[in-house]
Amino acid sequence: MPSITTPAIILHVMPYGETSMILRLLTRDLGLASGIARGARRAKSRTGPRLDLFMAGTATLFVKPNRDLHPLTQFEATDTHERLATDVRRFADGSALAELALKCAPADPHPQVFDAVSAGFAALEHTEDDSADTVALLVCWGLVVSLGFAPTLDACVVCDQPIDGRVAFSPAQGGALCAIHRAGVSTSMLAEADAAALAALVGGRLPEPLDARHAAAHRRLLLGFIRHHLAEHRSLPALTFWDAEPWNITSS
Ligand SMILES: [Zn+2]
Repeated sequence: MPSITTPAIILHVMPYGETSMILRLLTRDLGLASGIARGARRAKSRTGPRLDLFMAGTATLFVKPNRDLHPLTQFEATDTHERLATDVRRFADGSALAELALKCAPADPHPQVFDAVSAGFAALEHTEDDSADTVALLVCWGLVVSLGFAPTLDACVVCDQPIDGRVAFSPAQGGALCAIHRAGVSTSMLAEADAAALAALVGGRLPEPLDARHAAAHRRLLLGFIRHHLAEHRSLPALTFWDAEPWNITSS
């Protein structure tokens, strides 16, 4: 029964029995994994200090062949990301990133995906309030791109004709459409500045902070893209909440 120690991020926690927890982890060396931390909810636990959502650290798992749930014997936290629990917007941002990783990451190890999620949580934790919405879009697009789903923005996805300025974006087609190929297709028409902001987000560069209205429009567009290309028919409650208007309006 090999014991594996790997960088890991806690993406989901579920109480189990009186004192234990089941965790869904994104790990660098095992990919997505489920761990059972026996006794983790006792005041003094073998796995170390209390385990919580969004925590990053080093996990030690006893990996049993042909099993889906592995005993977690230790978790050494390097960053608790506790600021993400301080307000509804930051928690929604963290939950959106966690759900995107849980539902869309491959089960097998994928270091670039792990690094995108790891850097994403760090960025969400450390961003200032006025750029939090924009940083959340940046880190979610960063994960989408690391999963191999970058949209095409500078040319029509059908005929490859170069596109400049305004962009007719089709989430279903996976990017920009020229005047001919957008006919009869549902697209969002992005003004030049919005198209430039999207190109920055997809390219891993932070644009000027988006105002609440533009950030909401970008979330809608990203969620449409995720639904078409990554999520298939899976439900996405955290991303749907992240995209919802009410908390966005009250927190801006
Ligand atoms: Zn075209």
